[in-house]
Amino acid sequence: MNIGYPQELYYKLEERRAKCYLALGNGIKSSDAFKKTLQHLDFAKISLDKKKKIESDIRIMLAILEKGGNNQFKGKSEKKNECIIPKVKECNKFYPACSSAVEIRDAGGDIGRHAIATRDIAPGELLVVERPHSTTLLGEYRLKNCHYCFRKNIAPYPAACNTCTLIAYCSPSCRNADAKTHLNECTILGPLWLSNASITCLMAIKAVIQTPWNQLVQLKNDYEHAKQNYKPTEKRPFISSDFISYWSLVTHETTRTQDDLFHRAYMAAWLLRLLKTTDYLPEEVKTPDLHDHQLSSDELFIGDLLLHHLQLLQFNTHEVSELVRLRNEKSLAKSKNNFIGGGLYPTTALLNHSCNPGIVRYFIGTTMVVRALRTIRAGTEICDNYGPIFTVEKELERQRKLRLRYWFDCGCEACRGHWPLVDDIDPRILRILHVFK
Ligand SMILES: [Zn+2]
Ligand SMILES: [Zn+2]
Ligand SMILES: [Zn+2]
Repeated sequence: MNIGYPQELYYKLEERRAKCYLALGNGIKSSDAFKKTLQHLDFAKISLDKKKKIESDIRIMLAILEKGGNNQFKGKSEKKNECIIPKVKECNKFYPACSSAVEIRDAGGDIGRHAIATRDIAPGELLVVERPHSTTLLGEYRLKNCHYCFRKNIAPYPAACNTCTLIAYCSPSCRNADAKTHLNECTILGPLWLSNASITCLMAIKAVIQTPWNQLVQLKNDYEHAKQNYKPTEKRPFISSDFISYWSLVTHETTRTQDDLFHRAYMAAWLLRLLKTTDYLPEEVKTPDLHDHQLSSDELFIGDLLLHHLQLLQFNTHEVSELVRLRNEKSLAKSKNNFIGGGLYPTTALLNHSCNPGIVRYFIGTTMVVRALRTIRAGTEICDNYGPIFTVEKELERQRKLRLRYWFDCGCEACRGHWPLVDDIDPRILRILHVFK
């Protein structure tokens, strides 16, 4: 309708919408759509007889929905299949995404910020619920999942961008919520996906364009503060929507090689050039895209931000995944975990790695939920897992992957104790443990 569908045919769309809601068991919305169909019938260019027939059919449907029929649909809203996002009951005052059972300490050096249990934590206990600072969906899921909330689209195009055909939303409300951000990326998403740029590049630019230029430029002081010695306070706690929390994440800038910095600066320059083709930056800030023109100071600020983002995202991005139950399978035992996008969750990013992690992460839409996987004793570290698990991957291989990807040598209990793989443990021992449990 927003892009000029003929008004005389609106009644057909509303009638289809009503039937879809009926099939989904949402009587209230179905009834609303039937009523709109009646309103739009006035503009329909069809014979009077046909109009009367449609009107009488709809009035019958409305009567059924209002009387007995509506009762069976009452309460069955579109939210019936939605998971409820749990809430942390008692929050950490400085890191409100965490429960008060989690304390964030800073040991400096290689260990840096990390999480410690303030009391004994039971298996399954809720530890962190965090909204992302920024997210990006992988190109191959651009129509299968909502561009904004990442939920699966139950119909191919429940709602689309009014300009491009690249993306889909699960509902008009998601499209409206994302409208301002997407306006800034609408013309460059295609080139970004086609270029095969890494997810880090996609997220680096998304973190910029999701905030309007006039707001971002006000944060220059926060940017400098975050890079030096930022400590959250009760008044300004560490929260994912605050750029100061995001910018304070580790980048390892001082230990990077010249080659690495050159490559990232090159990518930042390319992202800046792409950004200059959009309306994100005001005209007075932009300079001509020619080799003999100096960049304006505001363009340099954005370029610097992009370079900073490219560095911090390398170490702090989480994969966002969805659990897919196989067709005709009732249990989740054989379900698949699909990697559908990337998200930056500043608080959870502070957790250190262990090959024997104490937590498990899962997603509801783009919200990350973290629970304890086993008992964690008071005073011990609460560790996440960055990929390799001791039960299935050999110590040398785990160490190699972690050094290559995250630049550290793992000193977790499984690595220090040279724990064996599960397959290498004598099954009789496992059986004995099972009996004594
Ligand atoms: Zn959505
Ligand atoms: Zn678009
Ligand atoms: Zn380890």
